[in-house]
Amino acid sequence: MDRQQEFVLRTLEERDIRFLRLWFTDVLGTLKSVSVAPAELEAAFEEGIGFDGSAIEGFARVHESDMIAIPDPATFQVFPFEGGANGESARMFCDIAMPDGAPSWADPRHVLRRTLAKAAEKGFTFYTHPEIEFFLVTDMPEDGSEPTPVDSGGYFDNTTHAAARDFRRQAVLALERIGISVEFSHHEVAPGQQEIDLRYADALTTADNIMTFRHVVKEVAVSQGVRATFMPKPFTEQPGSGMHTHLSLFEGERNAFHDPTDPMKLSKVARSFIAGLLHHAREYTAITNQWVNSYKRLFPAPLPDTTNEVPAFVSWGHLNRSALVRVPAYGKPNSARVEVRSIDTACNPYLAYAVLLAAGMKGIEEGYELPPGAEDDIWALTDAERRAMGYEPLPHDLSEALDVLARSEFVAETLGEGVFDFFCKNKRSEWDAYASRVTPYERRRYLNVL
Ligand code: GLU
Ligand code: MG
Ligand code: MG
Repeated sequence: MDRQQEFVLRTLEERDIRFLRLWFTDVLGTLKSVSVAPAELEAAFEEGIGFDGSAIEGFARVHESDMIAIPDPATFQVFPFEGGANGESARMFCDIAMPDGAPSWADPRHVLRRTLAKAAEKGFTFYTHPEIEFFLVTDMPEDGSEPTPVDSGGYFDNTTHAAARDFRRQAVLALERIGISVEFSHHEVAPGQQEIDLRYADALTTADNIMTFRHVVKEVAVSQGVRATFMPKPFTEQPGSGMHTHLSLFEGERNAFHDPTDPMKLSKVARSFIAGLLHHAREYTAITNQWVNSYKRLFPAPLPDTTNEVPAFVSWGHLNRSALVRVPAYGKPNSARVEVRSIDTACNPYLAYAVLLAAGMKGIEEGYELPPGAEDDIWALTDAERRAMGYEPLPHDLSEALDVLARSEFVAETLGEGVFDFFCKNKRSEWDAYASRVTPYERRRYLNVL
């Protein structure tokens, strides 16, 4: 047993923790959990915990359904606020293995690890910093009607209605207590909408943190008698929830995106990385924006009376919030980074960060040229102007995103064939189920007039 494993066992004993949850993530980004008694843990470190992979979305074909979850002791965390009268609980993320011990092709953590390892071969470490937006609502009506936001606040409002403010305080405290550092938190543009930004970390840690974040935020909401949702666009008339992510590559201690001699302080590596993000954007959008509803958020029409700062066109710009990739204002050399603005809060963070990194790396490896940056508000241009300037639209809906995805060798290679095939099939049936449904909107629109 190694020192990390020993530390876990000792902590469980010293703090008398009876519930240890082993977590992993399915292909669609749903958190899965199995509890083990501390007495079983030593064996779990040695041999893993067996489970039926065919019962997990995307994990296995039935004839190879035995899978093994191997806890990663580096992710051990005590949850001091959970467990109630039964004492504290704790969790670890797991890596998933096949019965022969090889990493499972279906494990999203493995997909990201593999992509990170490829970048590491070229000398790069990949850091990410997500801005996570979500809504707090008082109810979740089962008939599908709009829920009620907890407040009527707006951007940076110091809501006097105590619900959201106290919620953010509790959520941030809970996150800090389990080692997830929060940089900023504030009220977002829409009523009930919140944003909490995590401190940057290597991408695997960030993806683990996002999975933990969603769980903790939902629990804190329930404990305050409200509900949290990461649905990308719950309200037709309000902006949706994105998960803008700032990306950077480091070579050792040095930020590889920084070049003091460049007017924008952007290195050649950064420029090729952005070029890769743009070049493959249409292909990976199905991964960063994976639900039917994701495309309602990205829809290329500004909302009336609200700021709609989502990208619908493939473009980049300095400080430009209508661009897909934004280069934030220049700061300290080590904070050089680029912000991807399409990705939403309901993605599978492991797969999404894998495709973003792979796209950027492809730009570097193949030496893609970066097209000129967009200075204008791309929303304000006409279609013809956008065409002339070469701003291609992002896929309009999940169906188009899947069409582009199905032809993408780049994404298939990054995700691996098994995950890629499952994803394409699963998402196509999600689209078909949606597209074939007759909606209340259509009846209101047509029943009487046709
Ligand atoms: N809520 C906006 C979105 O859907 C982003 C607003 C912002 O933080 O700039 O991406
Ligand atoms: Mg925001
Ligand atoms: Mg942002």
